Amino acid sequence: MLGGTGEGREIAARLAGSGDLEVVTSLAGRVRDPRWPEGEVRVGGFGGAEGLAEWLVENDIRALLDATHPFASRITANAHRAARTCGIPFALCRRPSWAQHPLDRWFPARDLSHAAQLVPTLGTHAFLTIGRQGVSAFAEVNGVSFLVRSIDPPTGTMPVPHELILARGPFDVESELELMRRHGIDVVVTKSSGGDQTYAKVVAARQLGLPVVVVERPPVPDGVDSFDSPAAAASWLESAGR
Ligand code: NAP
Repeated sequence: MLGGTGEGREIAARLAGSGDLEVVTSLAGRVRDPRWPEGEVRVGGFGGAEGLAEWLVENDIRALLDATHPFASRITANAHRAARTCGIPFALCRRPSWAQHPLDRWFPARDLSHAAQLVPTLGTHAFLTIGRQGVSAFAEVNGVSFLVRSIDPPTGTMPVPHELILARGPFDVESELELMRRHGIDVVVTKSSGGDQTYAKVVAARQLGLPVVVVERPPVPDGVDSFDSPAAAASWLESAGR
């Protein structure tokens, strides 16, 4: 299983100690202090689709489940290719996207550079909560100060001016409201990540009537089984992997 998400940890926990099925979770190794899944874990990139295919063969892997983050599109494309090369079953576990509430003021963005174009049309004090990667897409935005929040420090060119907060969810609505008020936030930028861990910022923005730039998810490969619950994905892996 390709992990790095809460869903991946839940699937690993569900399958831990399930008889003769051995589950290995793979983490990219990006976060300095990752939340560790139960069971066997390996860490680090494979070296593209070819490297992953070799690893699958060497380790006699019978089925591959991609439970990575909806925005981790490179590893998903690599996994799809590698599974086809090896002729093993492949499926995705993707948490559902957040549904827009009637009071939400959402501005969809095709990608991070589109989001960077939208921000200065909507506000001057932006709360940038898109994770560590991709912050540099906002480096050329003028006339906007950014409050950047990520688990580990972003790499690459930062927008100017900015303030950085290092924090890991889950966050609650009260603290998100307090943060947004204290920093005079007038526009929020988020990925369409889904899940409970970071939804509080969406609720807080709704309560404050703030516009939210929502970066849309990259597409998933065609014709691949996709489960939106860890329970369903775990039972798929349990039967496909034996
Ligand atoms: P990505 O752009 O799709 O992948 C970049 C490269 O990282 C891949 O080509 C692969 O290297 C390696 N990689 C990614 N996930 C891996 C895994 N589970 N096991 C082993 N290698 C992996 O991925 P990303 O957006 O950098 O995300 C990296 C990890 O962080 C993922 O596991 C994802 O679930 C997690 N994550 C991402 C986000 C996000 O917003 N993107 C948010 C939360 C968590 P090789 O080509 O060398 O194999």
